[in-house]
Amino acid sequence: MKSYYEILGVEPDATQNQIKKAYRKLAKKYHPDSGGSDPASNARFQEISEAYAVLSDPDLRSKYDYLGHEAFQSSGAQRSASADYETEDGHCGACDMGRKKKDEDEGPPPKSIRMAVHLTLAETLKEIVKTVSFYTKEQCPRCQGEHAKIQYVECPVCNGKGRRVYFENNWGYKVRQEVFCNTCRGKGKIPEEICPECLGLGYKEKKWEFQVKIPAGSYERQYFLLEDIACCDKEEIDRVPHEDKNLIVIVLVDEDPKFERKGYHLYSTYDVDYATLVLGGKVKIPTIEGDVWHEIPEGMQMGSRIQLLNRGLIRPKKMGGRGDQYVTLNIRIPRNLTAQQKRALKEYQKTLQADR
Ligand SMILES: [Zn+2]
Ligand SMILES: [Zn+2]
Repeated sequence: MKSYYEILGVEPDATQNQIKKAYRKLAKKYHPDSGGSDPASNARFQEISEAYAVLSDPDLRSKYDYLGHEAFQSSGAQRSASADYETEDGHCGACDMGRKKKDEDEGPPPKSIRMAVHLTLAETLKEIVKTVSFYTKEQCPRCQGEHAKIQYVECPVCNGKGRRVYFENNWGYKVRQEVFCNTCRGKGKIPEEICPECLGLGYKEKKWEFQVKIPAGSYERQYFLLEDIACCDKEEIDRVPHEDKNLIVIVLVDEDPKFERKGYHLYSTYDVDYATLVLGGKVKIPTIEGDVWHEIPEGMQMGSRIQLLNRGLIRPKKMGGRGDQYVTLNIRIPRNLTAQQKRALKEYQKTLQADR
């Protein structure tokens, strides 16, 4: 089965612009109006449109990337539009960020006001209070929304022509000149009046901020109803004009270039000096909670992996505990040895040559 990216012929990391361009090119080629009524190209056009509808919408696209093509098609966009939010499985924790998600965990319903909360990997380990913010639109208090549709009147400077005519005196001859009307920018019309408060939008944006308590063990794209995790009273949230929309907080876990995530486990690399690899010893290894000392045994090979138990991410309650961190050991080759170190290493080298 072709992915939507393949259908549009773009890379999975394509920008919105690239996606739009690819779509336009294909749509032109396969559009029913241009290709007659060939059923194959009609089907192709359907396919292209479907791919574009998903990939051009950042929300749907991230959901698609997350669920994968097959899962997205069977449990995807259309169904989640009617998903009943009352099933609270969305925050059951059983849905791991690395695993294929279950049917009922399809992401928040589209009819919602969403706000993101960013967490670092370490911040997912404990309950944490964060501030979320979002905007709502309120009718402009000055024009009461009346200027949402700006009324235009004929430009008084050019009488609606968009160009101005005047006669220039050129060595005694009157020469007719026609110039672009700057007042109306050539349109012939100007707005009758623009509300200075909302600049003709008819509404103003109001910013809302709330403190929320995100529980320990939260994961990428987990979502909560604001009222379930807000630190304030419910009455304060009720003041937000949201009609029948849900106020939804979505967790976004920031990537950390030092740690690769696979499910609940973390993967990192660590550079150890040659002597410690050979002789063993204590090394200070970075984890998401800071450096920890770890004893590595004698004779470790470069590229071998050690396991730091319970240094990964929190598992869902059902499983309990935490994942582990796997550290691949690399060798650190020093560049500026002291004379003493060089002497010692040469002595060692001699013993190797003696072995031969
Ligand atoms: Zn206004
Ligand atoms: Zn004008």
